[in-house]
Parts: sequence; structure tokens; C-alpha cells
Amino acid sequence: MTKHVIVVGGGIAGLTAALRLAERGFAVDVYDAAPELGGRTKSHFDEGLQVWVDNGPHLMVGAYEATQKLMADVGASDLASWQHHLTLPLWHQQRGFFALEAKPYLPIALALLVAVAKLPGHGYKSVLAMLKIALGMHKRNETQTVAAWMEEVKAPDLLKQDMLEVLCLGVMNEPMLTANAKTFARVLATSFASHNFAKMGWFNKPLSQALVAPVVNACEKQGVRFYSRQTIRDISELKADAVVLALPATARNRLLGIDAPVETMAITNIHFWLEEPIEMSNMMVGMLGTYSQWLFDVSAMTHESGQLQHLCVTVSADVSDMRQEEMMNKAWSEIEVMVGRPLQMPLKSRLIREKRATTLVRPFGSIDLPSHFIDAGESPFPGQLPATIELAVISGEKAAAAVTNITREKP
Ligand SMILES: Cc1cc2nc3c(=O)[nH]c(=O)nc-3n(C[C@H](O)[C@H](O)[C@H](O)COP(=O)(O)OP(=O)(O)OC[C@H]3O[C@@H](n4cnc5c(N)ncnc54)[C@H](O)[C@@H]3O)c2cc1C
Repeated sequence: MTKHVIVVGGGIAGLTAALRLAERGFAVDVYDAAPELGGRTKSHFDEGLQVWVDNGPHLMVGAYEATQKLMADVGASDLASWQHHLTLPLWHQQRGFFALEAKPYLPIALALLVAVAKLPGHGYKSVLAMLKIALGMHKRNETQTVAAWMEEVKAPDLLKQDMLEVLCLGVMNEPMLTANAKTFARVLATSFASHNFAKMGWFNKPLSQALVAPVVNACEKQGVRFYSRQTIRDISELKADAVVLALPATARNRLLGIDAPVETMAITNIHFWLEEPIEMSNMMVGMLGTYSQWLFDVSAMTHESGQLQHLCVTVSADVSDMRQEEMMNKAWSEIEVMVGRPLQMPLKSRLIREKRATTLVRPFGSIDLPSHFIDAGESPFPGQLPATIELAVISGEKAAAAVTNITREKP
């Protein structure tokens, strides 16, 4: 007889679990509290501008193997674009533009050392620290912070500013001061294993079209049924052979009535639509020593053809208590400093702050679930991947495998 599975949560983790289960012959129902599927990979339609706007640009690295496989399986590979090799364009108010570029004709480890040595103001001390970081990756313990690790290897301040903090915020959405060293080491080891893994990728259409819709369509073809605007408040309502909880840890604990600690971090994205376009030599720039951390030329990334140029400033690990208007003015004035001239004010600006953008990596969070429940939620432990699309896809895949196992054991 066909086994029935309920998936609670229609973000990428839940959608992946639903697809893989349906492919294996399960009857799958997905319940999501929101009006639209996709969870935190979210796009809104701006009525005024008649354009889709993501909550924020989502970057990937070549090491996102599970995500790339999922996109290939649902026929969406061409909706992601990739660098040829790792190039990280950077800007600093006093030092101007420069880039960390891993030359593809060198072996990746050597390419990274050469790239760091070539950064302005960096010398052998940065290279030495990089070597020590590489050699000490496997020795991290569960409670060490990235800052403590960098102290151990005597990483120069400039290396921290130009590379390590940027990477840490980018991949863990947390500053080095509190981010977990074991997970950071895992990310470095995985991402810098080859040129192919190190390169950066992005979605070349809004998230709802590039990632969510293709997976939802593939699910529907396999017979998955979706129920949106359905907040599950009581797990005893969930009658099925197995239940997958694909929820962020906070929502999962609330549903289960568990009072366990969870730490989350915000991300703020400030979108600007410009009538007078700015010449950008790169579609993304890491901004150093500023409130803004990344500037994205979304029009170039998504091949948006319109009259207006769409730029987006990202502030990762946002802990500021600034008012929205103040944040928008600050980000805009930093773009003016970067461009080096006063700019015509944007036609439209919009700030999107995701208060609980990611669950932070912490050595707590494991929970007990009823036997036919599987947790595909986001609560990364030290040494696991941080909260990313890749973690969500892997959690969904693992949940589908676990359901297959537990239902097979049942008479
Ligand atoms: C602004 C921003 C930028 C980001 N940038 C990146 C990036 O550059 N690269 C990257 O890899 N990752 C990035 N992330 C992280 C990435 O988006 C998430 O890690 C990933 O989408 C999490 O997917 P999920 O399915 O685990 O959770 P979610 O997407 O949160 O899905 C959970 C779903 O559960 C639903 N739900 C909650 N409670 C209930 C309930 N009681 N009943 C029913 N449904 C419920 C919610 O509505 C939601 O749809 C970013 C996140 C944000 C917010």
C-alpha cells in the first residue's frame, strides 16, 4: 500500500524532501504557513515597479553539490550562473578597488596563497597565517570561535579585514568574534578543495522562478499536494505514516512546545532602483570597513531588462538598531563614496530585513521526536554546514532517506 507522508514547511528543505519522497512512490502532502511556498528563498512582486524582488541576493559556491544536483534534476541548471574561477572583487574607502583572484592555471591551494599575497598591503605574514589555517583545519573543537582560531595563528588584522571576516559573514552570517571555528573550518576545507568548488554562483532569475517554481513543478508532476496558509499548531493533527518537520529551529520548537535555546541572526537588504545607471565593473563587490557589506548589481545578475538599474546592498549579521531611513541613507551615501561622485537619488528604495534570516551554529539544539517524525529543520551543530540553501537541500534529502528507512521497517 502507498505510504503517506506529511511534510510541514515548504521552504527548500521541505520541497526537497517532498520531491525525493514522491519520486520514491510516497503520497506526500506539504503544509506551509505562508501564502507562497519557498520559505526564506522568497520573492515579492512590487506592484509599483511591476518587478519581482527577492528578500535578498542568495549566493552559492561550487561546493553546493546537492543544490546543483537538485537544480539539474528539475531542469533548472541554467537558472544559476557561475564564475569561471573564484574572483572576489573588494573595495575599501582608502585603498580603492582590488580583487582576490584564484588563478585557474595554478593548483587551488597555491592559487589562494598567491591571491592573498597579491592583495595590497599583504605580505608573507598573511601567507604564513593562511598556511597555518590550512594545516590546523582538522583540529578545531566544538566551542572555539573563529576569532580565537585566528588569534592562535596570529592572523594579521589586514587578512582578517580583507578576507576572513568577509568570508565568515558571507558563509556563516556571523562575525568571527562569535562564529564557530569547527564549521568555518569545514566550509573552508570544502569550498577550497578545488577551483570548481571555490567559484561563486548566483540565481539569474528571482528566487521564486529560479529555484522554488522548478522544484514545486517537479513535485506536482510527481503528485505532491500543497496546502499553503496552513499553520500547523498541534502535531497530534498530523496523521500519516511519517512526518517530516522542515522548519527553522525556532518554529520547530514552538510547534513541539519545547523550550530549547536557539540563536538566530538577521540580514538586511536595501534595494535601490536607479534612473541614472552606475557603471559597475563587477556585478558584486565586497565592501570593507563600511556599514554595507556587499553591493550587488541585481540587474546584471538577473539580466533584468528595464529602464531602471536595480542595485542591492546587503548587511549580513545585522545587529543594528538604526531606523530604516537612516540605514537606507547610510547605504546610499556609501555607494556615492564608492562611485566617487554625488548621484541622482534613486527612484525607489526598499529595505527588507529578515529578522531570523539564519539559525546560528551552536553546540545545542538536538531534540527528541516521536518515532515516525523526522527533523529536516535548520539547527546546525559545530562541524556541520552553516544555515544555507545547501544545508536545506541536504536536510531534505536526508529526511527522505530516513522516512524510507523507518517506513520500510514498519509491518
Ligand atoms: C536575506 C537572506 C539571505 C540569504 N542569503 C543566503 C545566501 O547567500 N546563500 C545561502 O546559501 N543561503 C542564504 N540564506 C539562507 C537560506 O535562505 C536558508 O538557509 C534556507 O532558505 C532555509 O530553508 P529551509 O527550508 O530550511 O527553511 P525556510 O525557508 O524557513 O522554510 C520553512 C517553512 O516553514 C514554514 N512554517 C513555519 N512554521 C510553520 C508551521 N507551524 N506550520 C506550517 N508551516 C510552517 C514557513 O512558512 C517556511 O515556508 C539567506 C537567507 C536570507 C533570509
